[in-house]
Amino acid sequence: NAKRQGRNITRCYDASMHESTERHMMLESELYKALSKKQFTLHYQPRINAIDKKIVGAEALIRWHHPIIGDVSPVEFIPVLEEIGLIHEVGAWVMEVACQQLKIWNDKGYTDFVMSVNLSAVQFRDTRLAQEIDEVIKRIGINPQRLEVELTETAIMEDVGQTQATLAVLKKIGLRISVDDFGTGYSSLAYLRSFPLDTLKIDRTFVTELPGNSEDRSLTSAIIAMARSLKLHIVAEGVENEAQAAFLLEKHCDEFQGFLYSRPINQKAFTALLTQSA
Ligand code: C2E
Ligand code: MG
Ligand code: MG
Ligand code: MG
Repeated sequence: NAKRQGRNITRCYDASMHESTERHMMLESELYKALSKKQFTLHYQPRINAIDKKIVGAEALIRWHHPIIGDVSPVEFIPVLEEIGLIHEVGAWVMEVACQQLKIWNDKGYTDFVMSVNLSAVQFRDTRLAQEIDEVIKRIGINPQRLEVELTETAIMEDVGQTQATLAVLKKIGLRISVDDFGTGYSSLAYLRSFPLDTLKIDRTFVTELPGNSEDRSLTSAIIAMARSLKLHIVAEGVENEAQAAFLLEKHCDEFQGFLYSRPINQKAFTALLTQSA
Protein backbone atom coordinates (compact mmCIF):
# COMPACT_ATOMS: atom_id res chain seq x y z
CA ASN A 1 0.00 0.00 0.00
CA ALA A 2 2.74 2.40 1.00
CA LYS A 3 4.61 1.44 -2.12
CA ARG A 4 1.59 2.13 -4.30
CA GLN A 5 1.03 5.44 -2.59
CA GLY A 6 4.67 6.33 -3.14
CA ARG A 7 4.43 5.52 -6.80
CA ASN A 8 1.27 7.53 -7.14
CA ILE A 9 2.91 10.50 -5.51
CA THR A 10 5.82 10.18 -7.90
CA ARG A 11 3.49 10.05 -10.86
CA CYS A 12 1.50 13.07 -9.69
CA TYR A 13 4.70 14.96 -9.13
CA ASP A 14 5.93 14.15 -12.64
CA ALA A 15 2.61 15.11 -14.16
CA SER A 16 2.47 18.45 -12.41
CA MET A 17 6.09 19.16 -13.29
CA HIS A 18 5.31 18.41 -16.91
CA GLU A 19 2.25 20.64 -16.73
CA SER A 20 4.24 23.54 -15.29
CA THR A 21 6.95 23.20 -17.92
CA GLU A 22 4.29 23.21 -20.59
CA ARG A 23 2.62 26.30 -19.15
CA HIS A 24 5.97 28.01 -18.89
CA MET A 25 6.74 27.29 -22.55
CA MET A 26 3.30 28.44 -23.61
CA LEU A 27 3.59 31.70 -21.62
CA GLU A 28 7.01 32.28 -23.15
CA SER A 29 5.83 32.00 -26.72
CA GLU A 30 2.68 34.05 -26.06
CA LEU A 31 4.67 36.78 -24.30
CA TYR A 32 6.69 37.41 -27.47
CA LYS A 33 3.46 38.52 -29.17
CA ALA A 34 1.75 40.19 -26.23
CA LEU A 35 3.14 43.71 -26.69
CA SER A 36 2.39 43.98 -30.41
CA LYS A 37 -1.06 42.45 -29.84
CA LYS A 38 -1.77 45.12 -27.22
CA GLN A 39 -2.57 42.55 -24.54
CA PHE A 40 -0.90 44.56 -21.76
CA THR A 41 -2.63 47.34 -19.86
CA LEU A 42 -1.78 49.34 -16.77
CA HIS A 43 -3.90 49.52 -13.68
CA TYR A 44 -3.42 52.10 -10.96
CA GLN A 45 -3.78 51.65 -7.23
CA PRO A 46 -4.19 54.78 -5.09
CA ARG A 47 -1.76 55.75 -2.38
CA ILE A 48 -3.60 57.41 0.48
CA ASN A 49 -2.43 60.00 2.98
CA ALA A 50 -2.73 58.26 6.36
CA ILE A 51 -4.09 61.35 8.11
CA ASP A 52 -6.64 62.94 5.78
CA LYS A 53 -7.20 59.80 3.63
CA LYS A 54 -6.79 61.78 0.39
CA ILE A 55 -5.20 60.29 -2.71
CA VAL A 56 -1.59 61.42 -3.03
CA GLY A 57 -0.46 59.19 -5.85
CA ALA A 58 -0.73 55.84 -7.56
CA GLU A 59 1.29 52.74 -8.22
CA ALA A 60 1.22 51.56 -11.82
CA LEU A 61 0.69 47.80 -12.05
CA ILE A 62 0.88 45.84 -15.30
CA ARG A 63 -1.92 43.53 -16.39
CA TRP A 64 -1.84 40.86 -19.09
CA HIS A 65 -5.02 39.60 -20.65
CA HIS A 66 -4.63 36.82 -23.18
CA PRO A 67 -7.69 35.95 -25.32
CA ILE A 68 -7.43 32.22 -24.54
CA ILE A 69 -5.38 31.86 -21.36
CA GLY A 70 -7.21 34.77 -19.74
CA ASP A 71 -5.63 36.98 -17.07
CA VAL A 72 -2.13 36.05 -15.97
CA SER A 73 -0.64 37.55 -12.78
CA PRO A 74 2.52 39.68 -13.05
CA VAL A 75 3.91 37.50 -10.26
CA GLU A 76 3.90 34.68 -12.83
CA PHE A 77 4.87 36.48 -16.04
CA ILE A 78 7.42 39.12 -14.91
CA PRO A 79 10.02 36.40 -14.11
CA VAL A 80 9.38 34.87 -17.54
CA LEU A 81 9.89 38.27 -19.21
CA GLU A 82 13.15 38.63 -17.28
CA GLU A 83 14.28 35.19 -18.34
CA ILE A 84 13.68 35.72 -22.06
CA GLY A 85 15.06 39.26 -22.06
CA LEU A 86 11.77 40.95 -22.90
CA ILE A 87 11.57 42.83 -19.61
CA HIS A 88 13.47 45.79 -21.10
CA GLU A 89 10.95 46.28 -23.89
CA VAL A 90 7.92 45.71 -21.69
CA GLY A 91 9.42 47.80 -18.88
CA ALA A 92 9.96 50.67 -21.33
CA TRP A 93 6.31 50.37 -22.40
CA VAL A 94 5.19 50.52 -18.74
CA MET A 95 7.33 53.62 -18.12
CA GLU A 96 5.98 55.33 -21.25
CA VAL A 97 2.30 54.72 -20.44
CA ALA A 98 2.69 55.56 -16.73
CA CYS A 99 4.48 58.83 -17.55
CA GLN A 100 1.84 59.82 -20.10
CA GLN A 101 -0.85 59.18 -17.51
CA LEU A 102 1.09 61.10 -14.86
CA LYS A 103 1.33 64.05 -17.25
CA ILE A 104 -2.44 63.99 -17.78
CA TRP A 105 -3.23 63.93 -14.04
CA ASN A 106 -0.61 66.57 -13.16
CA ASP A 107 -1.97 68.82 -15.95
CA LYS A 108 -5.54 68.30 -14.72
CA GLY A 109 -4.59 70.17 -11.56
CA TYR A 110 -3.35 67.32 -9.39
CA THR A 111 0.06 68.96 -9.40
CA ASP A 112 1.47 67.09 -6.39
CA PHE A 113 0.27 63.69 -7.58
CA VAL A 114 3.08 61.09 -7.64
CA MET A 115 3.23 58.04 -9.88
CA SER A 116 5.29 55.06 -8.83
CA VAL A 117 6.57 52.52 -11.30
CA ASN A 118 8.05 49.12 -10.46
CA LEU A 119 11.45 48.25 -11.87
CA SER A 120 12.54 44.62 -11.88
CA ALA A 121 16.03 43.66 -10.71
CA VAL A 122 16.99 42.91 -14.31
CA GLN A 123 15.90 46.39 -15.48
CA PHE A 124 17.77 47.95 -12.59
CA ARG A 125 20.99 46.24 -13.71
CA ASP A 126 20.60 47.56 -17.28
CA THR A 127 23.15 50.35 -17.81
CA ARG A 128 20.85 52.14 -20.29
CA LEU A 129 17.96 52.41 -17.80
CA ALA A 130 18.60 55.88 -16.37
CA GLN A 131 19.16 57.49 -19.75
CA GLU A 132 15.98 55.91 -21.11
CA ILE A 133 13.90 57.23 -18.21
CA ASP A 134 15.48 60.66 -18.61
CA GLU A 135 14.53 60.68 -22.29
CA VAL A 136 10.90 59.76 -21.51
CA ILE A 137 10.37 62.38 -18.81
CA LYS A 138 11.92 65.14 -20.92
CA ARG A 139 9.95 64.22 -24.04
CA ILE A 140 6.65 63.98 -22.17
CA GLY A 141 7.48 66.98 -20.03
CA ILE A 142 6.89 65.77 -16.50
CA ASN A 143 8.41 66.94 -13.25
CA PRO A 144 10.84 64.15 -12.26
CA GLN A 145 9.95 64.81 -8.61
CA ARG A 146 6.49 63.40 -9.39
CA LEU A 147 7.89 60.09 -10.61
CA GLU A 148 8.99 57.41 -8.17
CA VAL A 149 10.74 54.18 -9.07
CA GLU A 150 10.16 51.13 -6.87
CA LEU A 151 13.01 48.69 -6.39
CA THR A 152 12.74 45.64 -4.20
CA GLU A 153 14.90 45.35 -1.11
CA THR A 154 16.42 42.20 -2.64
CA ALA A 155 17.34 44.03 -5.86
CA ILE A 156 19.11 46.95 -4.16
CA MET A 157 21.07 44.72 -1.76
CA GLU A 158 22.31 42.40 -4.51
CA ASP A 159 25.35 44.30 -5.76
CA VAL A 160 25.65 47.32 -3.50
CA GLY A 161 28.48 48.90 -5.46
CA GLN A 162 26.45 49.00 -8.63
CA THR A 163 23.35 50.00 -6.67
CA GLN A 164 25.23 53.00 -5.30
CA ALA A 165 26.24 54.11 -8.80
CA THR A 166 22.84 53.56 -10.44
CA LEU A 167 20.90 55.24 -7.62
CA ALA A 168 23.19 58.27 -7.86
CA VAL A 169 22.33 58.64 -11.56
CA LEU A 170 18.58 58.18 -10.97
CA LYS A 171 18.73 60.74 -8.17
CA LYS A 172 20.60 63.19 -10.41
CA ILE A 173 17.71 63.01 -12.87
CA GLY A 174 15.51 64.07 -9.96
CA LEU A 175 13.46 60.92 -9.47
CA ARG A 176 12.15 59.62 -6.18
CA ILE A 177 13.40 56.23 -5.12
CA SER A 178 11.41 53.71 -3.16
CA VAL A 179 12.32 50.39 -1.54
CA ASP A 180 9.53 47.92 -2.23
CA ASP A 181 8.55 44.80 -0.26
CA PHE A 182 10.66 45.92 2.67
CA GLY A 183 11.22 43.25 5.30
CA THR A 184 11.25 40.31 2.91
CA GLY A 185 14.95 40.64 2.05
CA TYR A 186 18.11 41.09 4.04
CA SER A 187 19.04 44.73 4.36
CA SER A 188 22.26 46.03 5.69
CA LEU A 189 21.46 49.12 7.75
CA ALA A 190 24.80 50.66 6.79
CA TYR A 191 23.93 50.45 3.10
CA LEU A 192 20.32 51.41 3.60
CA ARG A 193 21.56 54.56 5.26
CA SER A 194 24.05 55.35 2.51
CA PHE A 195 21.61 54.98 -0.42
CA PRO A 196 19.73 58.10 -1.59
CA LEU A 197 16.27 56.70 -0.80
CA ASP A 198 13.00 58.59 -0.39
CA THR A 199 10.37 56.00 0.45
CA LEU A 200 10.12 52.65 2.19
CA LYS A 201 7.19 50.34 1.51
CA ILE A 202 6.46 47.83 4.26
CA ASP A 203 5.65 44.48 2.71
CA ARG A 204 2.07 43.40 3.11
CA THR A 205 3.01 40.15 4.87
CA PHE A 206 3.75 42.30 7.96
CA VAL A 207 0.44 44.13 7.68
CA THR A 208 -1.97 41.21 7.12
CA GLU A 209 -2.20 40.06 10.76
CA LEU A 210 -2.18 43.51 12.33
CA PRO A 211 -3.13 44.42 14.96
CA GLY A 212 -3.79 40.98 16.47
CA ASN A 213 -0.37 39.41 15.95
CA SER A 214 2.03 40.72 18.60
CA GLU A 215 5.17 39.77 16.68
CA ASP A 216 3.96 41.68 13.62
CA ARG A 217 3.03 44.62 15.85
CA SER A 218 6.61 44.82 17.14
CA LEU A 219 8.12 44.30 13.70
CA THR A 220 6.06 46.98 11.96
CA SER A 221 6.68 49.41 14.83
CA ALA A 222 10.42 48.74 14.58
CA ILE A 223 10.46 49.13 10.78
CA ILE A 224 8.54 52.42 10.99
CA ALA A 225 10.83 53.74 13.75
CA MET A 226 13.90 52.82 11.72
CA ALA A 227 12.52 54.38 8.54
CA ARG A 228 11.70 57.57 10.41
CA SER A 229 15.26 57.84 11.73
CA LEU A 230 16.46 57.47 8.15
CA LYS A 231 14.02 60.28 7.19
CA LEU A 232 12.17 58.03 4.77
CA HIS A 233 8.58 58.39 3.73
CA ILE A 234 6.70 55.27 4.91
CA VAL A 235 4.02 53.45 2.95
CA ALA A 236 2.19 50.37 4.21
CA GLU A 237 1.16 47.87 1.53
CA GLY A 238 -1.86 45.60 1.69
CA VAL A 239 -4.02 47.61 4.08
CA GLU A 240 -7.34 45.77 3.98
CA ASN A 241 -9.21 46.89 7.09
CA GLU A 242 -9.72 49.83 9.45
CA ALA A 243 -8.01 48.11 12.39
CA GLN A 244 -4.77 47.77 10.41
CA ALA A 245 -5.00 51.41 9.29
CA ALA A 246 -5.63 52.65 12.84
CA PHE A 247 -2.63 50.76 14.21
CA LEU A 248 -0.34 52.00 11.41
CA LEU A 249 -1.51 55.60 11.83
CA GLU A 250 -0.79 55.45 15.54
CA LYS A 251 2.75 54.29 14.70
CA HIS A 252 3.13 57.27 12.33
CA CYS A 253 3.02 55.53 9.00
CA ASP A 254 2.64 58.24 6.29
CA GLU A 255 0.65 56.49 3.58
CA PHE A 256 -1.54 53.47 2.98
CA GLN A 257 -2.09 51.37 -0.08
CA GLY A 258 -4.56 48.52 -0.12
CA PHE A 259 -7.94 47.04 -0.87
CA LEU A 260 -9.50 49.02 2.02
CA TYR A 261 -9.28 52.10 -0.21
CA SER A 262 -9.22 50.57 -3.68
CA ARG A 263 -7.99 47.67 -5.71
CA PRO A 264 -5.82 48.52 -8.70
CA ILE A 265 -8.22 49.98 -11.32
CA ASN A 266 -8.05 51.23 -14.88
CA GLN A 267 -7.29 54.80 -15.92
CA LYS A 268 -10.92 55.76 -16.35
CA ALA A 269 -12.04 54.47 -12.96
CA PHE A 270 -9.02 56.06 -11.30
CA THR A 271 -9.81 59.45 -12.82
CA ALA A 272 -13.34 59.19 -11.41
CA LEU A 273 -11.93 58.35 -7.98
CA LEU A 274 -9.56 61.34 -8.15
CA THR A 275 -12.35 63.73 -9.04
CA GLN A 276 -14.42 62.37 -6.16
CA SER A 277 -11.51 62.61 -3.69
CA ALA A 278 -10.70 66.24 -4.55
P1 C2E B 1 4.21 45.04 -5.67
O1 C2E B 1 4.99 46.05 -6.42
O2 C2E B 1 4.56 44.80 -4.26
O3 C2E B 1 2.70 45.49 -5.84
C1 C2E B 1 1.71 45.36 -4.87
C2 C2E B 1 0.85 44.14 -5.12
O4 C2E B 1 -0.02 43.97 -4.01
C3 C2E B 1 -0.05 44.26 -6.35
O5 C2E B 1 -0.21 42.96 -6.92
C4 C2E B 1 -1.37 44.71 -5.73
O6 C2E B 1 -2.50 44.39 -6.51
C5 C2E B 1 -1.36 43.92 -4.45
N1 C2E B 1 -2.19 44.53 -3.41
C6 C2E B 1 -2.41 45.84 -3.19
N2 C2E B 1 -3.20 46.04 -2.14
C7 C2E B 1 -3.50 44.82 -1.63
C8 C2E B 1 -4.28 44.36 -0.53
O7 C2E B 1 -4.87 45.13 0.23
N3 C2E B 1 -4.33 43.02 -0.33
C9 C2E B 1 -3.70 42.14 -1.14
N4 C2E B 1 -3.82 40.82 -0.89
N5 C2E B 1 -2.94 42.53 -2.21
C10 C2E B 1 -2.85 43.86 -2.44
P2 C2E B 1 -0.05 42.70 -8.48
O8 C2E B 1 -0.63 43.83 -9.26
O9 C2E B 1 -0.54 41.32 -8.74
O10 C2E B 1 1.52 42.76 -8.68
C11 C2E B 1 2.35 41.81 -8.09
C12 C2E B 1 3.79 42.16 -8.28
O11 C2E B 1 4.16 42.12 -9.66
C13 C2E B 1 4.14 43.58 -7.82
O12 C2E B 1 4.29 43.61 -6.43
C14 C2E B 1 5.43 43.80 -8.59
O13 C2E B 1 6.50 43.19 -7.93
C15 C2E B 1 5.15 43.07 -9.90
N6 C2E B 1 4.72 44.03 -10.91
C16 C2E B 1 3.47 44.51 -11.16
N7 C2E B 1 3.50 45.40 -12.19
C17 C2E B 1 4.79 45.51 -12.57
C18 C2E B 1 5.47 46.28 -13.59
O14 C2E B 1 4.89 47.08 -14.32
N8 C2E B 1 6.83 46.08 -13.69
C19 C2E B 1 7.53 45.21 -12.88
N9 C2E B 1 8.84 45.08 -13.05
N10 C2E B 1 6.91 44.50 -11.92
C20 C2E B 1 5.57 44.64 -11.76
MG1 MG C 1 5.56 47.91 -6.05
MG1 MG D 1 5.41 45.93 -2.90
MG1 MG E 1 4.67 43.19 -2.31
